[in-house]
Amino acid sequence: MEASVQSFWFSTPAEQGLIPCVESIGDALRFAADLGSDDLVVLDLASGHFIDCNRSAHERLGYERDHFLTLNPAAIQADGDLADDLMHDQLRVMRQQPRGSFATRHRARTGTCRDVSVSYQVLELHGRLVALVSHRDRTELDTALRESSRLGSLLQEAERLTHVGSWELNHRTGELLWSNEAYSIFNTTPELTAPSYEVFLRKVHPEDRPMVDATFQDAFRSGRPYRIEHRLLLGSGLLKVVLERGRTTLGDDGEPLSTVGTVQDISEQHEIQQRLERIAFVDPLTRLPNKAAAVRHLARLLRIAGKDHSIALINLDLDNFQSINNSLGHEIGNQVLQPSGTCLRHLMRPDDWLARVGSDEFILLRPMASADRDQALRWAEEIRRTLGNTPGMGTGLAVQPSASLGVALAPDHGLDPDTLLRCANTALMEAKQHGKNQLRFYTPEISLQLRERLELELGLARAIDREQLRLYYQPQIGRSGSRIAGAEALLRWRDRSGRMVSPNVFVPLAEKTGQIHTIGLWVIEEACRQLHEWHRQGLRPGKLAINISALQLGAEHPSLSVLLDGALRSYDLVPENLELEITETALLNDPDRAGEQLRQLAESGFSLAIDDFGTGYSSLAMLHSLPLDKLKIDRFFVDRLGNDDADLAIVKATIVMAKELGLMTLAEGVETREQLRMLQNLGCDQFQGHLMGRAMPANEFASLLRGTTDA
Ligand code: C2E
Ligand code: MG
Ligand code: MG
Repeated sequence: MEASVQSFWFSTPAEQGLIPCVESIGDALRFAADLGSDDLVVLDLASGHFIDCNRSAHERLGYERDHFLTLNPAAIQADGDLADDLMHDQLRVMRQQPRGSFATRHRARTGTCRDVSVSYQVLELHGRLVALVSHRDRTELDTALRESSRLGSLLQEAERLTHVGSWELNHRTGELLWSNEAYSIFNTTPELTAPSYEVFLRKVHPEDRPMVDATFQDAFRSGRPYRIEHRLLLGSGLLKVVLERGRTTLGDDGEPLSTVGTVQDISEQHEIQQRLERIAFVDPLTRLPNKAAAVRHLARLLRIAGKDHSIALINLDLDNFQSINNSLGHEIGNQVLQPSGTCLRHLMRPDDWLARVGSDEFILLRPMASADRDQALRWAEEIRRTLGNTPGMGTGLAVQPSASLGVALAPDHGLDPDTLLRCANTALMEAKQHGKNQLRFYTPEISLQLRERLELELGLARAIDREQLRLYYQPQIGRSGSRIAGAEALLRWRDRSGRMVSPNVFVPLAEKTGQIHTIGLWVIEEACRQLHEWHRQGLRPGKLAINISALQLGAEHPSLSVLLDGALRSYDLVPENLELEITETALLNDPDRAGEQLRQLAESGFSLAIDDFGTGYSSLAMLHSLPLDKLKIDRFFVDRLGNDDADLAIVKATIVMAKELGLMTLAEGVETREQLRMLQNLGCDQFQGHLMGRAMPANEFASLLRGTTDA
């Protein structure tokens, strides 16, 4: 290969003539680092001879040091014929340019040749111009260059695979360079687009543009690294999501020099993330956010609202949804849910937020300027009214089910999602306690009542196992006013603390929780056991009346008659030994079904009594169609007999009509002789009340029986 002098690098004109002065050759070697090589030679520019060298410089060319220092550059030139000319050229260049480099070809003493890159720095040493020269093997350099271009393409490949493009913006010139992958992310090519910051901004989705521009401008000014996700809106509506990262280098004057950044296409990840979000945070049926989303959103709203602003929270539960599901099937149930969701959506203001948090449960959120109870209630009332009046869209139902609502307010009732959701739910439960289509605002008292109810419920569940339930017996007296005609079995619960809990409290609760079935069965068995025991003792208490809840009457598997049958059989009794007391209200719930049950029980031989008559507005005509034996006139009327003529008239009419229908009458709650006398005069058949005896334990009742049955 022909050796040639080729200057790769020249110093700037300003540097020309500026030749550093050094004190020694050792000093001169300080400049070696700048030249970057292992092989170093010091050349006297005047004589053109080597005056010093390091070890690798002479060893690589195969000379002893002393020998090498007798040589000049021509002696190591590969091309012997041109060696002198080349050397002179090189020396001339060195004298003109104090710093530079060129390529040439060296021959070692052994005769092997190699391409060399020569760099030099001219120095002044004690008034003499010397050049510190470095020799670097070109073969190594070429390999490194080849390596670096391979790295370049590797980098490109890596960019392509990871969808990461890179770019550099020169703030002084405004020039913007995009890597191949950056072009591809921006959906263009170098031929079609000359990149600039403005061109880039035009590719950003218009909605994201102000935010992106602001982020970049801030990064350019501050030099702080940035990280931003935004959308690109490219030709023909192509939408991408990108992640941009980078940093600006500032000059000494604080002005931006350049920004180097990456742009990564994360559309796929974004889509996956959105899909995951949909699964994790969206209810598939109504397409509304779900409970997890509600908690997350509420937390966010609370953070924004702080203590100065308020959030109204409504927990809404559709009434009768369970029965719709059970009776009409889940398909219709789902069909009911969707329009309910739609209806709620229509009632929303732009800032309101709606989620479905349970099968038939929704959460509504509304940010408010201040905690305004009345405003929150007005909103809830509007929802309550609208839901119950919406036609049943495509469900075959006349109207959509109504809803019960519980309302809570932040910050008054809490500052975290958990507490607030609990408060709204407590208010909702309270609303449900009061029937359907109700609305309640949370108060701490509600919580307390609810907790008490809950404790009661738990206690009741254990009451049966722990034998805390008892039956007391209250005598029912015949027309004479002294003979015991029968007894009513009344439940007593002495709880753990020894407190007597009234059946007026726990029976309605047991009906709500369904515990009434277990308790009711215990009553039937215990009453039968006791009656059997009295019979065994030779006592004849007459019919034993048992109170039957509407739920027991409606039960199917097992039915009430099956349960009664089992108990009677166990204790050697017959249906005629028992009277079943059914409250008037129990009959009103489902008169047809109740009628059928009663007829069956009557056919079996049970006596049937209507309890608390007069409180439930049932008509005597309806009662006429039922196979009843007795009317129990409620204590309310008996109590007012002496003071109110109207009540006297009602009791009188009731007794007369009952007789017409062939029914026996019993007056409940007889407390005074006067009441007894009046009732006797009106023709009432039986009496029950404190006057004749309170409800008492079985043994006391037995003593009473022993003393009075024969009277
Ligand atoms: P009820 O069936 O109408 O029972 C009559 C209630 O009036 C009893 O209250 C009785 O103690 C009370 N009473 C009787 N005479 C008088 C009186 O002269 N003055 C006053 N002030 N009260 C009198 P108790 O035992 O507290 O029972 C309340 C209600 O609990 C019962 O009303 C009945 O509806 C229900 N209950 C009691 N035991 C059972 C049961 O075993 N099963 C079911 N399902 N309900 C029961
Ligand atoms: Mg009763
Ligand atoms: Mg009663």
